[in-house]
Amino acid sequence: MNREKSKALFDEALTYFPGGVNSPVRAFQSVGGTPPFIESGKGATITDADGNTYIDYCCSWGPLILGHSNPQVKESISNAIEKGLSFGAPTEYENELAKLILSNISFIEKIRFVSSGTEAVMSAIRLARGVTNRNKIIKFEGCYHGHADSLLVKAGSGLATFGISSSAGIPESVANETVVLPLNDENAVKEAFQNYPDDIACIIIEPIPANNGLLIQKDSYLNFLRDVTTKHSSLLIFDEVISGFRVGFEGAAGHYNIVPDIITYGKIIGGGLPVGAYASSNEIMKKIAPEGDVYQAGTLSGNPIAMAAGIAQLTACLQSGFYESLEKKTTALKTSVMDHVENKGYPFRFFTFGSIFWMSFSDTEVIRSAGDIDATGMEKFNLFYNYLLENGIYLGPSGYEVGFVSAAHSKKEIERTAQVMISALDEVLS
Ligand SMILES: *Cc1c(COP(=O)(O)O)cnc(C)c1O
Repeated sequence: MNREKSKALFDEALTYFPGGVNSPVRAFQSVGGTPPFIESGKGATITDADGNTYIDYCCSWGPLILGHSNPQVKESISNAIEKGLSFGAPTEYENELAKLILSNISFIEKIRFVSSGTEAVMSAIRLARGVTNRNKIIKFEGCYHGHADSLLVKAGSGLATFGISSSAGIPESVANETVVLPLNDENAVKEAFQNYPDDIACIIIEPIPANNGLLIQKDSYLNFLRDVTTKHSSLLIFDEVISGFRVGFEGAAGHYNIVPDIITYGKIIGGGLPVGAYASSNEIMKKIAPEGDVYQAGTLSGNPIAMAAGIAQLTACLQSGFYESLEKKTTALKTSVMDHVENKGYPFRFFTFGSIFWMSFSDTEVIRSAGDIDATGMEKFNLFYNYLLENGIYLGPSGYEVGFVSAAHSKKEIERTAQVMISALDEVLS
């Protein structure tokens, strides 16, 4: 594949942006080579500046559950644009999206829209601290919750890719309020509550951790987190920025039937435009300004164009059979690849949860914590990645990133992907 135009654009971008990008993992440092500059996307495919087309499983890192340039989403946005772009005053669009969400998710009663997942989580943490009057938070190694200071400790693929556990520029006083524990370890949580019995405001977890591989947790462990937080009058935050509207409309909370105290959303909620949200009970949400004393605001919060995109996308997600169809396609991809892998006895595993998938170059059957991931497999992933790219399959450029199947992926595209993956595995592993 010729990627000369992308290469020239990237060289130019290097003169404008640190590392040539506006979000680190896009720089392709992990897998090597030059990132394709994307010119357009339609359905399940994207086309780069040199005219190469790829079947896309990054899907903008999850938001595009309907695929690229979905006609309903585009129409909804166009209609909203006709009326103006932003007012900084309430619009009916906000009511409509809120109603769509609150009337279909039984775990929450009130919601606040913000402009990114990071902002949602940052605000949820402030709310948890405001409600409990406590300072410390517990997070888990391998869970990513955006780039707010207190959450940027052992935080997932972006950092894992660069071999650093935490970011510079975070005051020790802030980092000290974050207790980082391994996933899937009940005793570690109990110990933390023993060490700080009256100072843990909340536990925050990705209930389906999908930012550092796909670290599927046990039901019993998530239920334990619910119980232990209740027992210590601490709050449980489910960060559903990826899993929300992805593994079912009610996300992980719905899948596990666990009622967290606060849920954060992002990605899918905005239909490809910048939207985040945090939501909870009436009781907890009344702590937020202007009703309560926890301050949080946003110039572009609830932006009508972004709301319009979210409304169209979530409406499509509510159609019956929507999630079953996504899961079926994902399972088909896995089955085709794994049939071959099992025949050949390759050290390779394909994990899925709904329409989320992740591949590991090792024999390990169950991977529940960041420490379970065999980092030596990443070299093989990189070879695999570049083979896929050369053959028109685009994944997020890191072996720690998950892939997403969208409603736009056709049976034919899934089959072609499986064939290319199989050839790639033969190339890399035999
Ligand atoms: C993507 C993500 C975030 C951050 O969202 P941004 O919109 O990138 O700020 C937070 N939490 C989880 C679980 C995510 O996957």
